[in-house]
Amino acid sequence: MAKKKNTSEFPKWNYAPAPESTSHIQLKDRYDLYIGGKWVKPLSKKYFKTINPANEKTLAQVAYANEKDVDKAVKAARKAYDEVWSKMEPSERAKYMYRIARLMQERAREFAVIESLDAGKVIRESRDVDVPLACNHFFYYAGWADKLEYAFPNRKVSPIGVAGQIIPWNFPLLMAAWKIAPALAAGNTVVLKPAETTPLTALKLAEVIHDAGLPDGVVNIVTGYGDTGAAIVNHPDVDKIAFTGSTNVGKIIQKAIAGTGKKATLELGGKSANIIMDDAPLDEAVEGIVNGIFFNQGHVCCAGSRLFVQEGVADKVIEKLKHRMDSLIVGDPLDKNTDIGAINSREQLGMIHKYIEIGRKEGATMYQSNCELPSSGYYCAPTLFTNVAQSSIIVQEEIFGPVLTIQTFRTTDEVIQKANNTPYGLAAGVWTDKGSRIFNVTTKLRAGVVWANTYNQFDPASPFGGYKESGFGREGGLHGLSAYVKQNEYGTVRSVENV
Ligand code: ADP
Repeated sequence: MAKKKNTSEFPKWNYAPAPESTSHIQLKDRYDLYIGGKWVKPLSKKYFKTINPANEKTLAQVAYANEKDVDKAVKAARKAYDEVWSKMEPSERAKYMYRIARLMQERAREFAVIESLDAGKVIRESRDVDVPLACNHFFYYAGWADKLEYAFPNRKVSPIGVAGQIIPWNFPLLMAAWKIAPALAAGNTVVLKPAETTPLTALKLAEVIHDAGLPDGVVNIVTGYGDTGAAIVNHPDVDKIAFTGSTNVGKIIQKAIAGTGKKATLELGGKSANIIMDDAPLDEAVEGIVNGIFFNQGHVCCAGSRLFVQEGVADKVIEKLKHRMDSLIVGDPLDKNTDIGAINSREQLGMIHKYIEIGRKEGATMYQSNCELPSSGYYCAPTLFTNVAQSSIIVQEEIFGPVLTIQTFRTTDEVIQKANNTPYGLAAGVWTDKGSRIFNVTTKLRAGVVWANTYNQFDPASPFGGYKESGFGREGGLHGLSAYVKQNEYGTVRSVENV
């Protein structure tokens, strides 16, 4: 697929490999289910393997939870909810959460390396983004645990009950923290299922939770495939579903819980617009484009996968972007020099290749960076398409890989119309020198998050979530906490700005 590089033309690629050591990593050969504070063998008697997508080697065998295993986990969560967690003083709950956060920090290196091994993401990202942010979610929500009356003034607040949480493979530890931390702070108990290709950091988190002395059954981790997730969704004693994943599965879940009274938050796909106005600082904007689409191999629901450039600066931006793409190093996720790691699975790589082929067949013009891909493992060169139509499949559908489409525009109205013209509404970015333009564009974009002169910035205190087929409900901040509490009918949630 990718053209082979000519090293003499690109001397800057003669970097010294700097692989992170894996010697301090403690992985078991086989992981059981973490239910009721114990590691228990699956009633299914089945295990599946999780592999390193960078070399296809098996990392560990992982228990496959069937309906009976899920039932056991839900019963453990219910017992812990009724007998311990919902009755505990909130300040005590907070202490457990701080302990979890501190233990995660102590084991941060191990978490980072395991995440990179299991997910294929580059070690710089696991180490500097995913793991610290995951710890910060526990710190942040621990702080709210004993301040719920302040968070929801004049209202009686209580936890919802047992939360079933199903997470994807692109930010495995971070998504586990996003889900577990607000649930625990509000007094709920949890049954969490990590994605089948990336279960290891959630299982490592179970070890931390155990070592932090969390009461048995407050957090249960069950591993498995889609049917394990479906068993959680359909279990009658689960009160709330929190799901992050594909729009297709989100729709299945929405249908499954219709009429059951279960609460739900769904954080689904995206096809986010990154908009470069003609007065934007172009070098910074190009970095923002690169970050927007190539961060985490493009496996990001809010990836800036559609670039819109104002006509006057389009040629310049595309030229700078191609140059920058050529300097990106694709390869070993554990190498600290690597910019783009491994695609998470063979299946996902196939999906990305399928979309690249569709783009070519649709008549778009493709540019792939001039890089060498490792001979084993799942890799994809950074790719962009120009000459695309608004109706092109590659413009409308989420690719979830390092593939960018580029469209040009003349007026602000035109770009807003085009940016909003997809089934999704998760995020967007706008790059301009003028505050008035930022205000004009951001207020008209139908996206849950809009970044101005930056992209992919996250903080535990800021809410995240989408419009339309990108899902509903918000995670992060007070909004994320409100998704885990029952409130009386009066008043509204205080906005984050008021707190
Ligand atoms: P992706 O397409 O990105 O792999 P999915 O939506 O298929 O995302 O997966 C996200 C999570 O949802 C994973 O943990 C997966 O096992 C789980 N899952 C898949 N199918 C179902 C289902 N029908 N019900 C509940 N969970 C599911």
